[in-house]
This record gives sequence, structure tokens and C-alpha cells, in this order.
Amino acid sequence: MRELVQSRKFQWLLAALIFAVALLAVSFSRITLPLWVGLPLSLAVIAAVGRRIFWKGIKSLFRLRFSDINLLLTIAAAGALYLRQFEEAVIIVVLFTIGEHLEDFGVQRSQKALKELIEKNPKSASVKGVSHKIPVEEVLKGQIMRILPGETIPLDGKVLAGSSIVDESAITGEPVPKSKFAGDVLYGGTLNGNGYLEAEVLKEVRETTMAKIVELTVQAAQKKSASQRFIEKFSKVYTPLVMAAAILVVAVPVGILRLPFGQWFTQALTLLIIACPCALVISTPVAVFSALGNATKNGVLIKGGKALEALGRLKMVAFDKTKTLTEGDLEVSDIIPFGPFQEEDVLACAAGLERFSEHPIAQSLLRKAQETSLPVHTFKDFESLPGKGVRGQCMVCPDREHVLGSLQFIRERNGMASDKEVLEAVRRLEGQGKTVVLMSQDSRLKGIIAVNDKVREEAPRVLKSIRDMKVQTMMLTGDSAPSARFVAESVGIQNLKAGLLPHQKTEEIKRTQDRVGPVAMVGDGINDAPALAAADVGISLGSAGSDVAIENADIALMRDDLGMLPGLIRLGRKSLRIIRFNILAAILIKFAVLFLAVVGQSNLLLAVFADVGVTIFVILNALRLFAFRPKD
Ligand code: ADP
Ligand code: MG
Repeated sequence: MRELVQSRKFQWLLAALIFAVALLAVSFSRITLPLWVGLPLSLAVIAAVGRRIFWKGIKSLFRLRFSDINLLLTIAAAGALYLRQFEEAVIIVVLFTIGEHLEDFGVQRSQKALKELIEKNPKSASVKGVSHKIPVEEVLKGQIMRILPGETIPLDGKVLAGSSIVDESAITGEPVPKSKFAGDVLYGGTLNGNGYLEAEVLKEVRETTMAKIVELTVQAAQKKSASQRFIEKFSKVYTPLVMAAAILVVAVPVGILRLPFGQWFTQALTLLIIACPCALVISTPVAVFSALGNATKNGVLIKGGKALEALGRLKMVAFDKTKTLTEGDLEVSDIIPFGPFQEEDVLACAAGLERFSEHPIAQSLLRKAQETSLPVHTFKDFESLPGKGVRGQCMVCPDREHVLGSLQFIRERNGMASDKEVLEAVRRLEGQGKTVVLMSQDSRLKGIIAVNDKVREEAPRVLKSIRDMKVQTMMLTGDSAPSARFVAESVGIQNLKAGLLPHQKTEEIKRTQDRVGPVAMVGDGINDAPALAAADVGISLGSAGSDVAIENADIALMRDDLGMLPGLIRLGRKSLRIIRFNILAAILIKFAVLFLAVVGQSNLLLAVFADVGVTIFVILNALRLFAFRPKD
């Protein structure tokens, strides 16, 4: 509030308001100011604070844009002056301008978190090989930046030398600093602790994670929510209608019933002022901005009012399994060779095949091969089939064609792997919650590989909170049913759909939307992009540093932490409640005053105070979202 009162413009407005109130006192004491005093004084004040309204109003008049609120005000203020109601003319303009100023203030206040993010970013960087600091815009990818203790890291980079502790709360909202060693990734805009670091620049200034967050948040402001579109449509029809009604309020009594003009003209003006959908128009944007600002502060990027409102209406949260409900650090636990093959043959080929795959299974196999320092076989004609597996031609083995993937995939490719012995081994491993893949060489089965993953520690608690909010939970996975069931049971998920190909996940989401309503999909945002896009809200986990994940999702959680979800749903619900309440309050008060005007019990002043009063109320109500702290 202090910043508001200190602003120059606001002080002017306050002075104008005091002047208007003085005028009002004069008029109540039944002293009529002579025209040559009242008119110039009022005109001066109106011109000082409300010029902009009139310019816009007159422009709209010439363009015949009758839904413009400025035109309404211009007509109303001019009418009041014509009636020699100087104090009313001044108050209309001053109060409306204060309302507008408050709206700006609300938006600014909620965008402040964002501005702070940008301002924290250093303007220059110290680069190896250059004696002085250079502007960050001139730093190129691949250059080596030096970061001193206590400095803010200028750009995204990868640590080459040194170690330190970095406070990443500016991006992730996570208050606990992270230790960084060679190989770790740094984000521009985060704060280096007590160590000296040298890091290779990974991204130029316009492409850093921070720049991406800021850019997307600004774009988000332009994406309109369902409530906003409703309000716009409503105003477009409503305002011209009231203008027509105002004309009728003068025309019928004066023209047909021969009643006095002055009184009915005042009634018509009253009607016009009430019609201004001012409170209604700003009820939603300030709420959306406040909620978005709140989220940004906590390391959550919400891309607009649409995602926010959908979050408030959620009926189902669908989760991907690997890396979402589980940690995704897969570990190879069993390798069972078949026929003449040895464990090493299986691993050498599997690792070779997976060299070009991004799947977590691929990473685990490559790591295993590295640990055992096994020479990995070279492959060509590599092909990846999402949700199924990989295939390729081995340049080392005598039979070249190799396929690696799910049991189903191997069966459909080669029509094999139906021996009792094989099936039993697969079933036994899956019963332990492991993911099992099989590998074939030509038409022979070469081996079985099982990988193990840990369920996220926070998952059971988070899923319980979500269920307690009467939101259902579901797991969508490409993995086989037995191992998926193991995970589902250990985290307490209600519905399970296993063995799905990527497009089937999308279909499943669409079916669920038809059945229960709005659905959120939570995934890593990289290999779940279609499912994230199909859901009402696509949420990506651990998105800091991954442009793909940040871009694919409607909501990106910078931190790799499921624990943010329940609070996020609460923020969405609270926002929706505040938005609905604001819209309702604005419309109801409007109709109440309108009713008073129709029965002749209202005057301009009451109308203005009602409108501005609701506007201020609605803004303050929306600003509460900025400070909202969801309890778990
Ligand atoms: P999830 O739903 O757990 O993300 P995916 O749709 O990524 O699962 O994959 C489903 C199944 O397809 C895996 O469990 C695995 O059997 C097989 N698969 C997919 N990609 C690969 C790969 N690169 N290597 C081996 N198996 C794979
Ligand atoms: Mg996946």
C-alpha cells in the first residue's frame, strides 16, 4: 500500500478528490456557486486528472464504438456539467480514475515478482580470456564464464571447475541451496554461494531458462480465461443496450408524457454511469495476475488464466509412471541370457542399441555398461518406436537384426517369446515391480533385462491429499500391467491403465474428460507431450533447464517435486472462487442500483460510489490471491 500512496499520480488524485468533496460540502450547505467560479474550477480539475478519458471517449464516439466505457463517462460527466452539478462531474471522473489506477496497481503488484526476477539478472559477465566484464548480450555459447562467490550467475551454464552452493529459489522457489560440482547445470539469475565457479555458457541471454519463464508469463497474460471471454461478450451486448435504455428514459417521459426534462435527464445519466462494467471488467485480470504472481514466486509457471481456472475445476489427475510417480533413476537389476548367449553379449548389444534413445531405460543400460567397462557394440539403422522399444543392426554380431522392447513389441515383431520358461521369468520380475524388456537377435530370443525404479518418497502423501480434495487419480503408462500395479499399489492410485502406446494415452485422457470432466496430466513433459496437450491442464515436473518441457506444458513446475500439486489445485480453486464471487458481486450491485434508478430512488452520486466501491472491493479481493498460502 505504501508504494501506492507514494506515487505522484495518486497524490494528485487524492488532491482532486478532496477538492470534489469540498465542492460537495458547498452544495450541501445550499450555497450555489456562481457559474463563473464553478465551471472553470471543475473543468480545470477534470482536465487535470481525466483528459485521457475524454480523448478516448470522443474517439469512440466518432468510431461509433458504443461499448466503450470512456464514452459512457464522457457523456455522463458532460451531462453533469450541463446540469451545473459540478461536484458530481468532478467526482465521477476522479473516482473512476482512482479505480483505474488501482487496477494498474493490482496488475503491477502481481507482476512484481516477475520484474524482480529480471532485475536480479546481472547485466554483465566476466568471461575467460577477456580482461574486463562484458555485457551479457555479447557472451556466446561455449565461452567460459567466471562466477565469484556471492555473485548472481549471469547465464545458464555447465560447471567446469570449482564447487559451490547455489541458491536457485529465483527459478525453482526451493529455499534450500543446492551444491554444484563439475558437470552440474547452473541457471542464470540464481545466486552463487561461497565458492568460485568456472562454467561453460550453455545458452545465450535471450534463451536462458529465466528468459523463457519471463517471456511465457508475459504471453500468458494475453491468453484469456473462460471468465474473461464471458465478461467481454457480456459487456459488448450490455453497454449499448443500457445506452439505448438511457435514451428511452429521456425520450419517453419528456417526449410523450411531457414531464420535466431535467429530472429525467439526470435519471438517464445515472443509468449510464451504472452501466459502466468497470468492476466486472477488472474482476478477472487482477485475480489471474495475482495468482500467477503467487505461483511464479514458488517456482511454478502457470501459462494463463485458462490453465488456472481449469486447475480449479479438476476432477481427475492422471500421472505418467516413470519419472513422475517414480524417481526415474532406473537401475538394471537382472540380466537373464538365453540360448548360447552370455550376460555380456546381452548388455553389449542392449547398450549399443540404446545409445541414441532418450528413454530412461536407455540411460540405465548405458550406465550399466559403463560401470562394467564393457565394450559396447556399434549399431546402424537405428529406429525408435515410442512406447514400444528400439531396433537396429549390430555391426559386431554375426546376425545383425536386433530388437529390444516390451514383451508385446517383441511378440508382434517376431511372433516369439511365448515359451513357458520366458513368460515365467517375465512374470516373476514384474511381480517385484520391475520393468522388463526383452531382446531378440534375428529370430532368436537373446535375453531378458529387468530395470528397477524407486517410487518417489513424497508420492503416497501427495496422492492422499489429492484424493482428500475429492479429485480422482489415475495412472497412464506404457509399462506392463503387473509392474504398473506394483507402483499403483505402493502410492495409492485409484485407476490404472497399463500397456498404453503414446496415442492411446491421449485417447484415454479424452475418454476420461467425457466421463468425469476436467483432467490434468502430470508427466516429465518430454516423452508425454501429446498427452499433456490433450489434457485440460498439462503439468510438467522438474522443468528447470528443459525448454521442451516448459514449452509443452500449461503449467511447469520448476522443481522436481510432486509435493507442489495439492497446493496448486488449492490455488486454482481459490482463484476460481474469488473470480466467481467478484463477477457475481459486480453484477448484483449493478442491478440493485439500476433497480433504484428505474424506480427513481437513485442519484448520480450513489451510482458512482456503488461502481467505484465495487471496483475497489473486487481489486482488493483479487489481490488476496497474491498472498495465498495453501495449507497441506
Ligand atoms: P511410460 O509410460 O512408463 O513412460 P513408455 O511409453 O515410455 O512408458 O514405454 C513403454 C514400454 O515400452 C516400456 O516399459 C518398455 O517396455 C518399452 N520401451 C519404450 N522405449 C524403450 C526403449 N528405448 N528401450 C527399451 N524399451 C522401451
Ligand atoms: Mg514416460
